[in-house]
Amino acid sequence: MQIAIAGAGPVGLFTALTLARRGHTVCVVDRDPGPAADGSWSRAGVMQFLHPHGFRPQVRWALQSALPEVYDDLLAAGAEVRQRPGAPEESAGIYCRRSVVERTLRRAARRQRGLRWITGHVDRVLVSGGKARGLQVDGAELEAELVIVATGRSTRLADELRGPVEGGSCGFSYLSRMYRARAGGPGCDLRAPSLAVGPDYYSLVMPQDSGTHSLLLCFPTSARDTALLRTETGFDRAAAAVPNLAPWADPDRFEPITGPLVGGNLTNTYRLQGPALGLPPARGLLFVGDAVATLNPVAGRYLSLALPHVQHLLAVLDDPTKDLFDASLALDLWAEENIRPWYLDHVRSDRTMLHRFAGGRLDLTEPIPSDVICAAAALDPSIAPLAGQYFGMTAGPDVLDPAQGRVRALLRQGWQPPTVGPALVDLAALPVA
Ligand SMILES: Cc1cc2nc3c(=O)[nH]c(=O)nc-3n(C[C@H](O)[C@H](O)[C@H](O)COP(=O)(O)OP(=O)(O)OC[C@H]3O[C@@H](n4cnc5c(N)ncnc54)[C@H](O)[C@@H]3O)c2cc1C
Repeated sequence: MQIAIAGAGPVGLFTALTLARRGHTVCVVDRDPGPAADGSWSRAGVMQFLHPHGFRPQVRWALQSALPEVYDDLLAAGAEVRQRPGAPEESAGIYCRRSVVERTLRRAARRQRGLRWITGHVDRVLVSGGKARGLQVDGAELEAELVIVATGRSTRLADELRGPVEGGSCGFSYLSRMYRARAGGPGCDLRAPSLAVGPDYYSLVMPQDSGTHSLLLCFPTSARDTALLRTETGFDRAAAAVPNLAPWADPDRFEPITGPLVGGNLTNTYRLQGPALGLPPARGLLFVGDAVATLNPVAGRYLSLALPHVQHLLAVLDDPTKDLFDASLALDLWAEENIRPWYLDHVRSDRTMLHRFAGGRLDLTEPIPSDVICAAAALDPSIAPLAGQYFGMTAGPDVLDPAQGRVRALLRQGWQPPTVGPALVDLAALPVA
């Protein structure tokens, strides 16, 4: 089949490579020309490029099974596979900067037989008589029998053929900074990301590749007076005052390799392929990656859903008894079962977390949010196996439902999920040492 893919981010490239390896003729189109001759890469329009990324086991499994040499190239580029002490081997994630993952995928795509690359802007999807027939790229027509849109979270392509976007802003913003070990010193040796809940923010340490790591503050977008945190000194002072960040901001051991980076407009969104469930947008037009859904990234979940979503598509396309309408429906049904529950879980958790960060109490007449149930595992060990499945995404978020009653009882007795560290307002006002 002649396949045109709009967008060469991680999901577009995973899709392009795997389809080309199945013997299809693939043309991938991206407006980003890639790294400059000096190796720098500004990655305009992909705000998350330099923010911390965690690649959960599902991403590792997808790469190992579908693109094994890309996985090996990643390890050769410095990526590390780590798991929590005592955790099963299959729970290991990949620790690597997103920029390294994208460079590795791009290199693989450039040498892949059957995969052609166009650097250009996709203006629109060409559809005639209810059938996708290609892309318009910088005014020129690119013919295809199957069109896959992977143009990310802000895409408007073929909007008129789809139903509305469910959701919107998740209410949180990112502020992160990347560090590396000073010459000769060891890098961040955490076996897994360290995510802590402060009085009104999350703080995260994300180990990455080649002795690098990222520190992150994720706080309500409505927070005031955070301007100083966005300065180099302000960020480093704040990081030194947050318990789980402080060891990894130590200037004697680590040096920053970026300035503090702002990540705004973070969203929880979900969208069907076409106007309604079971109605494709057009024959031979499919959407993958962030063009389907986005989740508040602080939990680092979405690629663990987006790549298996594509793997499901591949299985349908491989099946000679299925046609392109079946492929569209299969993507929707898989997303309804596997992506939408996480979208709803994030919407509920983010809403209640924003309320708590603003000083509100949990409403015990409503379902207890997942983060609170997981925090209660420290008191009630019978919840720990459920929390393990939730964190590992080896089951959907409803795996926590049986613990609702027990955690509600704990909350009624006065227990509250603990927080650590100073309040955001105090971090933002720390005096210069
Ligand atoms: C701050 C942040 C942190 C995140 N952290 C994690 C994490 O830790 N773990 C995780 O699993 N997920 C994380 N995510 C989610 C993850 O980054 C996305 O799910 C992922 O980028 C989606 O890949 P994609 O290929 O669908 O889209 P993108 O990565 O957005 O790529 C889209 C591509 O399309 C191109 N493009 C767009 N429009 C056009 C056009 N009209 N013509 C031509 N080209 C076009 C762009 O240049 C780009 O290359 C995070 C997201 C954010 C915002």
